[in-house]
Amino acid sequence: MSTTAPTSLTVEPAAPRLASGVVPDVGTLAGLNESQRAAATHPPHDRALLVLAGAGSGKTSTLAARVAWLVQQGADPQRLLLITFSRRAAGEMAARAARLLHRLAGLPASVAPPHLPWCGTFHGVAARLLRDEARHVGLNEGFTVLDRGDAEELMAQARQSAGLAETEGRARFPLAPTCLAIHSRCINTRAPLAEVLREHFPWCAVHEAALGSLFAAYAAAKRAQHSLDFDDLLLACWHLLQAPASASRLRARFDHVLVDEVQDVNALQADIVHALRPGGQGLTAVGDDAQAIYAFRGADPRHLRDLPARCTPQALVLTLTENYRSTPAILAAANAVIAQAAGGRALQLHSRRGEGLRPRLVTVADEAAEAHGVADAVLAEREAGILLRRQAVLFRTATHSAALELELVRRRVPFVKYGGLRFLEAAHVKDVVAVLRWADNPAARGAAARCARLVPGLGPASVARLLDGGGDLAAFKPPPAARAGWAALAQVMAQLRDEPAWPADLQRAIDWYQPHLERLHDDARVRRGDLDALLRLAGQHGSRHHFVTELTLDPPAATGDEAGPPHRDDDYLVLSTLHSAKGQEWSAVHLLRMVDGCMPADMATGRAAEIEEERRLLYVGMTRAKDSLTLWVPQRFHVTQQRAWGERHLYAPRTRFIGDELLAHFDQAVLTPPSQTGPSADAGPPLLDLTALLGSTWAGGSPGVQPTGSGPGQDPA
Ligand code: ATP
Ligand code: MG
Repeated sequence: MSTTAPTSLTVEPAAPRLASGVVPDVGTLAGLNESQRAAATHPPHDRALLVLAGAGSGKTSTLAARVAWLVQQGADPQRLLLITFSRRAAGEMAARAARLLHRLAGLPASVAPPHLPWCGTFHGVAARLLRDEARHVGLNEGFTVLDRGDAEELMAQARQSAGLAETEGRARFPLAPTCLAIHSRCINTRAPLAEVLREHFPWCAVHEAALGSLFAAYAAAKRAQHSLDFDDLLLACWHLLQAPASASRLRARFDHVLVDEVQDVNALQADIVHALRPGGQGLTAVGDDAQAIYAFRGADPRHLRDLPARCTPQALVLTLTENYRSTPAILAAANAVIAQAAGGRALQLHSRRGEGLRPRLVTVADEAAEAHGVADAVLAEREAGILLRRQAVLFRTATHSAALELELVRRRVPFVKYGGLRFLEAAHVKDVVAVLRWADNPAARGAAARCARLVPGLGPASVARLLDGGGDLAAFKPPPAARAGWAALAQVMAQLRDEPAWPADLQRAIDWYQPHLERLHDDARVRRGDLDALLRLAGQHGSRHHFVTELTLDPPAATGDEAGPPHRDDDYLVLSTLHSAKGQEWSAVHLLRMVDGCMPADMATGRAAEIEEERRLLYVGMTRAKDSLTLWVPQRFHVTQQRAWGERHLYAPRTRFIGDELLAHFDQAVLTPPSQTGPSADAGPPLLDLTALLGSTWAGGSPGVQPTGSGPGQDPA
């Protein structure tokens, strides 16, 4: 990695201008339009800069160009902090900026471009800063980061110990995941508990006092285990920025702070950004309030709007209005959808690309027909030369792609799924990572319990005895049946603690785990493939600590098991939740289940603000498409796990966000008439399903659908 800025960079001469005013993209700043170039070359020591612009207008490209330009001006790549939304986005941004730098410097392809070590997510950056600062601030350097599952488990334990789990004689106390959600919202929005309860969890308001003490107990449990949850990472980072000594150390690390997708920061993240760059010098942020989709996690586009005034002098605000991504036909439909947002949208985008085909609105009988239709369309596009990986299928909720996944496996179409089951959530990956986490931090009870439970013969009582004894390996006397299994675990643990070596430690952990893998899983061979993938990943990280922290913060997406893990050069279709698709683009995009109850999701139908967030989510989905966009409208679909109703078919109207007045923007088609023989027509539900209509609980909207399972909480970390 280079430690100094390349000094031999020269700007290539500006390319000749086209009649459109756009400069052809020759891979340097010359490829930017005038506004983009003004943003990319905003003087480094001038006031803060905010680029406020719509989807596909080149915000992220401009940010990457600015990074390259700053380095070209002499900025040290090691002292640039680039905050993006996901690890994938961070990787993409670092690669783009590096490519640009490479070309600007005229370096031969064999020379590695300057490395940008500080490019990551808020949580990832905070974790690294804390690791470095730990010894100055009384934090155990070996602290563990709890993932959501661990945090929930710890909250559940605290809830149990406080006697809050008993329900007799009083209103039921919220379950651990709800307690954690309340806790998280308080921290991320910086709002008092009473306010959070009143605004977002009114049914829990009677428990305010008990929640307050539960949160104190939860904090104490984390302290005892030297553990931080995701929210603590941000909070601790903010605290560091409040103490003069640590604040000046942190500020002195960076000359520039650049933030992408700033519409989705929460109050705490906004405070961190402003504390890192007081006054705003050296701060560049880009965002689009029409794409704000994380209010359900405490984000608020107000922080984007307030940014200029929080800087002294006020930040310069630049806008970009040209969309380079989508055809005018696609853009017109997306613009029409967002124009109906409450309060309207002032900034409408235009595109100079060839008109293109109107987006298709395809009505199909049911989800099976939807899955068939999408698979057919995807394969037809591939025949026409559009690689699978230039196509994507997007959906509101991870479970919406289930039928399609089966269809793709059946047809042997490889795919990856983002925003659904995560790699790290797979039991076998969690098991192996738990071994590393326990080795790192002997006080990590969750990890210890997970490892111990794998040993045959160790029951819950023995595990509790082990943990209560402080997890001391030598002192623990296992029951006779568990002796051999325990000895193997104790041996690998001792090795990992006493002779750490990276990435050899992961290999040791996997070797220990292999017999358990074979014992516990019928598909051990497939799962072993995931562990091998983990090994490959491990090599890219400098230390065990770093690896475990990164994995916990932003795990890579799970591989579609049967379809096999894709490699960089393989071709595979992308399946993604709408939330996980933000910032990305594909030539062809399919949006599944464009029906009320799925879009907007049924759980979001209560408040006007939530409906508006769903509308923006649809806008985000539509604006991912470059050349072709298809919206699928299944007339009915199968719903399982219905508490009150059992398994059933439900009828649903087309999404309310595409009313009849917008149909002119779409080509409509009916793909398959309801089949009398197809597998999904078996029950032959009547045309009007009164029970479903009567069971419809949501306010305001047209009657239609029952809850369909998991919601926004399923989306990416
Ligand atoms: P989003 O709001 O979805 O995050 P964005 O504003 O960040 O979008 P980019 O992803 O940076 O937009 O750019 C969208 C597409 O437009 C990319 O394919 C990019 O290469 C292309 N693009 C951006 N600027 C230009 C330009 N000046 N000339 C040609 N293509 C451009
Ligand atoms: Mg972007």
